[in-house]
Amino acid sequence: MSFRDDGAEALEWAASYLERVRELPVLAQVEPGEIRRALPESPPEAGEPFSAVLRDLDEVLLPGITHWQHPGFFAYFATTGSEPGILAELLAATLNVTQILWRASPAATELELVTMDWLAQLLGLPREWHGHIEDTASTSTLAALAAARQAFPGRVVLCSEHAHSSVEKAARLLGLAVQKIPADYEFRMRTEDLHDLEGACALVATVGTTSSTSVDPVAELAEICEREHVWLHVDAAYAGSAMVCPEFRWAWEGIERADSVVVNPHKWLFTPVDCSALWTRRPDDLHAAMTLVPEYLRTGDEDALNLSEYGPALGRRFRALKLWAVLRCYGREGLQERIREAVRLAELFEGWVREAPAWEVVAPRPFSVVCFRREGSDEENADLLERVNASGEAFLSHTALDGRYVLRLAIGNARTTEEDVRRAWDVLRREAR
Ligand SMILES: *Cc1c(COP(=O)(O)O)cnc(C)c1O
Repeated sequence: MSFRDDGAEALEWAASYLERVRELPVLAQVEPGEIRRALPESPPEAGEPFSAVLRDLDEVLLPGITHWQHPGFFAYFATTGSEPGILAELLAATLNVTQILWRASPAATELELVTMDWLAQLLGLPREWHGHIEDTASTSTLAALAAARQAFPGRVVLCSEHAHSSVEKAARLLGLAVQKIPADYEFRMRTEDLHDLEGACALVATVGTTSSTSVDPVAELAEICEREHVWLHVDAAYAGSAMVCPEFRWAWEGIERADSVVVNPHKWLFTPVDCSALWTRRPDDLHAAMTLVPEYLRTGDEDALNLSEYGPALGRRFRALKLWAVLRCYGREGLQERIREAVRLAELFEGWVREAPAWEVVAPRPFSVVCFRREGSDEENADLLERVNASGEAFLSHTALDGRYVLRLAIGNARTTEEDVRRAWDVLRREAR
């Protein structure tokens, strides 16, 4: 078989998978080790045809896949690998560009800068900021905090008790201490006690926390950080995508005063993993923290920007291609329409929970995630979640808020319809009986 024939078959596989994914159990119904035992222990001596890989994808691997593309996926943060993004990934692998330097593929670097400028415009961010793409928000935050450590003498990172664990991990890797600030009754960072930031180099504000999607007060924190000479990093990994709609921009009012911002297009902007957008108002500090050019990579391209000098990785995937494809094929209107639909569906679900006896909404819902629980103990709610997920019809996850076990329904998959949300609610009520 030729590349062309195998390729046609792989594309056919992809298209029919997306058509039938709705019928598959959304959470993989396997035990630990089960898939591993079904795979050969050793590699083949002689090469096999590509069709053997496709066959095993169906027969061996698929039962162990949790279907993130399933419209009944409501766990963590629901995502979408959109068709333009999928095809662009194929093309990026075809070019196999490794962007270590500008000259290693000028178009990859320059498309990345243009795409990040487009995205800044779509989200209402200042266009003069430096922006580039990292793999994940964990890496983006690591880079931002490395820049903060470069810029300011303190060795403490402040964040809310609801900040993502990646903040703590980045601080640990950078030899920085973390100080958690308590949150208020709506899970937002409290600012009352932030008078003296002695010893801090950075403060991380979260716009859309992972547990409840609560929003820290960015403008107020920017004011404090400016006064105290502390770097303000805004983690908007999930909710940043909602800013394509002006009606959500209240949530990061004051963002132009942040020193860095991370938004993950691979979360809620229809781009396949991995794609994390990092901007900074202080590119010189980021560059100083990250640049390290050995002799064998020195070039005479004086006016060229080497994006590897702004992040931890030297070899960089051509991620801009898929983001560019998504932004072009959806357009501002298409992106807005889908964000608004996800929020509408979450609002609808929230209304059903509110009206149902024995069910309760337990956190404000600024975006597309509903935090709720059923009357009864934490164990009963945990058991309910297990039964719902074992049904294969919907997949939800949980968190803890105010010391209580809480169910989370996250909408973000562009294939999710009102009927899918209705079905999840039916399954929840059925399993609760
Ligand atoms: C998902 C998330 C992260 C981590 O994102 P990765 O890209 O998986 O590293 C960080 N912060 C927030 C607020 C998130 O929602």
